[in-house]
Amino acid sequence: MTSATTIRVHPDGGVIVRAPFWLPAFSIQKFVDEKTDWILRSLARTKPSVSAKKYREGDKHLYFGREYPLKIKTVDRPTRTLIELAEDCIVVCLFRGHSEDKRIAEIRDGLLRWYLETGISVITEKVNVYTEKIGVNYSRIDIKKVSSIWGSCSPSNKLCFNRKLIMAPHEVVDYVIIHEVCHLVHRNHGSHFWGLVAKFDPKYKEHRRWLYRNHSLLSI
Ligand SMILES: [Zn+2]
Repeated sequence: MTSATTIRVHPDGGVIVRAPFWLPAFSIQKFVDEKTDWILRSLARTKPSVSAKKYREGDKHLYFGREYPLKIKTVDRPTRTLIELAEDCIVVCLFRGHSEDKRIAEIRDGLLRWYLETGISVITEKVNVYTEKIGVNYSRIDIKKVSSIWGSCSPSNKLCFNRKLIMAPHEVVDYVIIHEVCHLVHRNHGSHFWGLVAKFDPKYKEHRRWLYRNHSLLSI
C-alpha cells in the first residue's frame, strides 16, 4: 500500500481517508479493512457527545439497539433499587425517601448493575452460538469498561468486550462477536480472516460502519 494513503479520526467521530486519485477503490477498501481495529480504537477514544444523563421518569436508555423510557416506581420501605425490563420500558423500583442526589446515584448504579448482569448473559449466549458454528473454543469472556476497544481476543483465547456494546443493536453486537471469534482462527486482518467474518456476517461492512458513525450514542 502506498504511504500516501492516510486515515484520520476526527474528534467528532468522523473518519477521513485520503488516497491518491489513481488508487482503485478496492485498494482503499483493503487499506481501511487492515486498519479497522485502529479506527475503532481511535473512535472509542473520542468523547461521547451526549449530555449527562438525569435519570428521570421517561428518559430514554438504549438496550441492545432499542430505546426504552425509564418508569420509576417508589416504595415506602427502604429497599435495594431494582431494575427490570418490561415490554416497552425499563422499570426502576426504589425507596421513596432518597434525597435527589441519592436517587440519581441509586438509579445510575442500579442501571449499570442491570446492564452488566443482563448484558454478559446475552453476549455469552451469542459467543457460544458463534464459537460452536465456527468450531472454536474460548477460555473466558470479560465485559469491561474500556475506552479504546470494542472487543479483543488474547493469545490465551480470552475474549473481552466493551460494555458499551450492550447499547448497540443486536446485529452490530453480533458483528463484534463474530470479528473476535474469527480471531480465534486467524490472528490477523488478512483476506482469510475477512472471508470468515463475511461468511457469518455478510453485512459486516454495514455493521462496522454503524460503529464508526454511532459510537458516540453509546455511553454506559
Ligand atoms: Zn480484529
